Amino acid sequence: MNVLSSESLPRERFAAGQVICRTGDPGHCAYVIEEGCVEVLRDDGAGERLVAVLSEGSMFGEVALLDRMPRTATVRAMEASSLVRIERDHVESLLVRADPVVQYLLRILLARFRNPFGVVPARRAVLSDGSGGSALLDDVALQAAAVRTLSLARDLSHAIDDQQLELCYQPLLAFRDMSLVGFEALVRWHHPRLGAVSPMEFVPLAEKTGLIHRTGRWVLQRAIRDWPELKVHCVADGDLPPFVSVNLSAPELGRSEVPAAIARQLEQAGIPTPELHVELTETEIIHSVDVVSASLDTLRRMGFGVALDDFGTGYAGLDYLRSLPFTCIKIDKVFVQQMHTSERAMQIVKSALELATQLGMSTVAEGIEDARTASELARMGCTYAQGYFFGRPMPKEQIGPWLQVFRSRPPPIEF
Ligand code: C2E
Ligand code: CA
Ligand code: CA
Repeated sequence: MNVLSSESLPRERFAAGQVICRTGDPGHCAYVIEEGCVEVLRDDGAGERLVAVLSEGSMFGEVALLDRMPRTATVRAMEASSLVRIERDHVESLLVRADPVVQYLLRILLARFRNPFGVVPARRAVLSDGSGGSALLDDVALQAAAVRTLSLARDLSHAIDDQQLELCYQPLLAFRDMSLVGFEALVRWHHPRLGAVSPMEFVPLAEKTGLIHRTGRWVLQRAIRDWPELKVHCVADGDLPPFVSVNLSAPELGRSEVPAAIARQLEQAGIPTPELHVELTETEIIHSVDVVSASLDTLRRMGFGVALDDFGTGYAGLDYLRSLPFTCIKIDKVFVQQMHTSERAMQIVKSALELATQLGMSTVAEGIEDARTASELARMGCTYAQGYFFGRPMPKEQIGPWLQVFRSRPPPIEF
């Protein structure tokens, strides 16, 4: 967390002798000394006592900033000083994105620092709720979240060996004639004690702990093993053969040997490379663009399909996306589900479809849950449909029975 990386942080100037903050003041901000020097004074009942002199590069006020308690010292400029001001809101917006374990440990450290011999009353702390938003949790909830994260991270390392992971497949259908062209492979974890754990929770954890490489290898092996059995249900879409699409994380594609390793596995299984697509999100690409774009180029040259997942949720500019070798754009379900209620969502859907047409890419709309949305997307020229309206992610054994029902009662889509 480099809070000083922002050039936009405000500077404040103080004259020699001027008080910057006083004992008992609310601690809304911390300071870093850019130029000059300050003295820190404590009053423990017997008058003010100098406890420190801080110069250029030092920070002060950070503890009150984090634990929301009043200032415990008075700070005064010893000479004309320039200070960079760091607001609590800014730090908290960084903290909500931190791991619950880090947040919880920080709370404990702050409590000990404030009151080394006593019990600190329970307080509320900021915690990410995992959906990109944030929630205020008390110590008990924060501790529970931290313990859950730690135990999931530990248990995930056994999940593969203990056969707790399962790969489900969600149908991808051509809007043109509702034929089944392929599947997205989605991993599931059946935890022996906690039950079903969502990939939204454990995939980010696997990325942080490095377990994503083992998990990703398992997903790929399983998808390759299952594909011949799944492929018999699918039909080609023009020149494009049926395909199974797997999600890859940036750390996986960050390893330059990965594309060749994937190609080797497919070759051993006798599967042509165009029958495997990889999906990568915009956000993942932005975080490590150089390495990831090199791997994407290699995968494309080898003949794999490459899909840009969750289109619209990241911040990549369109020019930037044009330069990467995608064969398909997947429109995030947030926009698909809001296209009839939000003008902005509709605009994002339209720009994805326009961009894809310009660049000769296909499009998938994910998260379709009703006939009206499906019909509108079909009229707008989207290539493929994915969503609960057609079929949920399911174990491979359920695909045959699902397809029988689907073909006997095709969904009512109006062009
Ligand atoms: P994603 O890649 O965007 O996958 C689509 C998600 O949307 C899936 O959630 C799918 O079940 C859900 N979905 C599909 N149709 C509908 C619908 O009509 N309505 C609603 N409400 N949801 C729908 P799931 O399976 O929970 O996966 C969540 C995320 O976890 C995935 O988002 C992907 O980012 C990640 N993930 C899943 N499997 C893997 C994997 O094998 N490897 C990696 N790296 N990430 C994975
Ligand atoms: Ca995906
Ligand atoms: Ca997606």
